[in-house]
Amino acid sequence: MNEAILTLNAGSSSLKLSVHAATGERLLVSGLVDSIGGDGTLRLKDGDGAELAAQTSVADFRDHQAALATVLGVLREVLPGLDVAAVGHRVVHGGPDFKAHAVLDTAILERLAAFSSLAPLHQPHNLAGIRAALAAFPAAAQVACFDTAFHRTHPFVNDVFALPRAYYDKGVRRYGFHGLSYEYIASELARRAPLLAEGRVVVAHLGNGASMCAMQDGRSVASTMGFSALDGLPMGTRCGQLDPGVVLHLMVEEGMDAKAISDLLYKRSGLLGLSGLSNDMRTLEAAGTPEADEAIDYFVFRIQRELGAMAAALGGIDSLVFCGGIGENSRLVRARVCERMAWMGIELDPARNAANAEVISSDLARTTVLVIPTNEELVIARATRRLALGSTRSAA
Ligand code: AMP
Repeated sequence: MNEAILTLNAGSSSLKLSVHAATGERLLVSGLVDSIGGDGTLRLKDGDGAELAAQTSVADFRDHQAALATVLGVLREVLPGLDVAAVGHRVVHGGPDFKAHAVLDTAILERLAAFSSLAPLHQPHNLAGIRAALAAFPAAAQVACFDTAFHRTHPFVNDVFALPRAYYDKGVRRYGFHGLSYEYIASELARRAPLLAEGRVVVAHLGNGASMCAMQDGRSVASTMGFSALDGLPMGTRCGQLDPGVVLHLMVEEGMDAKAISDLLYKRSGLLGLSGLSNDMRTLEAAGTPEADEAIDYFVFRIQRELGAMAAALGGIDSLVFCGGIGENSRLVRARVCERMAWMGIELDPARNAANAEVISSDLARTTVLVIPTNEELVIARATRRLALGSTRSAA
């Protein structure tokens, strides 16, 4: 028997998964189903990152339930004797109530469905993944891990918009997202550099989605993302911070409806919109066109602005952590973000930055700058083990 924890991260047309041993933290398999509802593909890797199996033709990727059934068929081939003891799900929205991850039951599922109006582009797909897993594993405990839970420690001033109070009561709040990534970075920093972890930390999660989080003693104090995953930094295809007057202008002067504006702000803006070329930082770095360079300039400038804001929320800064695909890999973006930040005690060591070292600041710098690869799946697996299987399994 291979007793294991399955983690699922269901997007609109994708399903990301991982299988961890139920005891210890060993990753057995990770995988991604793309294009659910279309010509789906499944890519699986073993715990060392080696490609395992690719299924395209005979497989059924009609919807999330069919995709999960296909994945399980392949998983049982590559992990004979696989016994899924519990399933952990990434759930983008826990609303105002969920301050911690939770074992799912019917009542909680109903409450999560009610939060679909707060995250219409993500929550329904997360719930589809949960329903598919409930059908596939009726006896296994299922755990919801919320992207918003980590930020529920924000003080009121970082939780509210200056709208009439009734909207706050109805759930129009600054929730913040990428919480699973920040939870992982907080735990890694506590393991690698406990003194830094107790201090004032700004984490820049820079991937296709991007945000920053101010942490004090491992707890979130402020985040650049607000009510939706649109706010704050510009992203691959999302606009980031935008004057709400622009939305009114688009409605009144351009006659755009909610769907058209949503499509513009979520899918056609950010790096893609500014460069007119790509949402992908690697492509933009290589392109060298004026528009690609300006898109990178804007991305870097907004990170620097928010770095100042996050440090102000903390009353100073002791360390800055980069993570996410861009934060972990782009030497250029890291170097550019840290330029002209000496006033904040930030000074990079170019050789360390070029080597993607763990610590990339110079020894004399007052603020330590680190690169820590994030691992959202491991956070889900850990929470699922703790909540569904009890602490007895946590010892490796
Ligand atoms: P993520 O969403 O965290 O997977 O991050 C995806 C982003 O990371 C894309 O914009 C990629 O172009 C970017 N990225 C990954 N590797 C590199 C690299 N070596 N240099 C620059 N950007 C990178």
